[in-house]
Amino acid sequence: MRTDGMLKDDALKGQTIIVTGGGTGLGRAMGKYFLELGANLVITSRKMEVLEKAAQELEAETGGKVLPVQCDVRDYEQVENVLAKTEERFGQIHCLLNNAAGNFVSPTERLSNRAFDTIIDIVLKGSTNFTLALGKKWIAAEQAGTVLNIVTTYAWTGSGYVVPSACAKAGVLAMTRSLAVEWAKYKIRLNAIAPGPFPTEGAWSRLLPGDLIDKFDPAKLVPVGRVGEHQELANLAAYLMSDFSSYVNGEVVTIDGGEWLMGAGEFSHLEKVPQAMWDMLEAGRGKKS
Ligand code: NAP
Repeated sequence: MRTDGMLKDDALKGQTIIVTGGGTGLGRAMGKYFLELGANLVITSRKMEVLEKAAQELEAETGGKVLPVQCDVRDYEQVENVLAKTEERFGQIHCLLNNAAGNFVSPTERLSNRAFDTIIDIVLKGSTNFTLALGKKWIAAEQAGTVLNIVTTYAWTGSGYVVPSACAKAGVLAMTRSLAVEWAKYKIRLNAIAPGPFPTEGAWSRLLPGDLIDKFDPAKLVPVGRVGEHQELANLAAYLMSDFSSYVNGEVVTIDGGEWLMGAGEFSHLEKVPQAMWDMLEAGRGKKS
């Protein structure tokens, strides 16, 4: 395993990239690597104090330029404000990373309709708001652009207990593939990443509080036997943002150590069969032939 930066130092030089939910977790980790590769970064979410602290730290760590802008992705006017502030500070906008999300782990019948709406609004509407607002700008200015959406593997398998999130991420994936075709003529490229388990406060301690994280240890569900390192995701995100991937369009790249296939394969649970039992089964087959 390698956890150092993968791309050339200037891979994103001069690019201005907006990362929604960029003050924490994976958004912050990807943003940090974009800065290291020469990008200007705009981070946006609801909590301005979190964004300001992250911006200061990221600038100190990388020497890059970071603009924090408060925005609830559910509100189209606030989204347009982020774009205006970004243009004011950096001029042209080149890339968008739709990363902001919310989730409730719960039996679906225990959720109120408002809770359901909240997740759909943050994840799906948030991503469509930013993509539409920026896409309109790019098309009017005849300017190329790149959009990267963070989904999950249950965007296509579905998953119990996170149903609003599954519905919303499936919608984001549909938008990715649809616009990848429709907007390619405008030189706008869209791709998605489906991460498996990567430790963050948002995805882990909040979603699986207390000793639940030990009981349902995510690493045990991953064939390669471990969870992801943030830099592994950042390497993939930077590649998909950069011009090195300009022939990749409408793709969703899974980075999960094989986790979702483990659940999908009908016989994968035979992993638990001990070697001695395989020996017995093989010996039994040998006798018959
Ligand atoms: P996280 O740190 O909780 O990130 C979520 C971010 O979204 C926060 O910065 C939050 O900031 C922002 N946000 C939430 N509601 C918002 C709203 N209404 N408007 C604007 N921003 C909002 O969790 P994470 O694990 O890094 O997740 C990042 C992405 O990876 C998500 O799309 C998630 O679904 C995806 N993912 C993560 C994993 C994993 O194992 N970590 C696995 C699969 C997919 P504020 O609270 O300040 O608004």
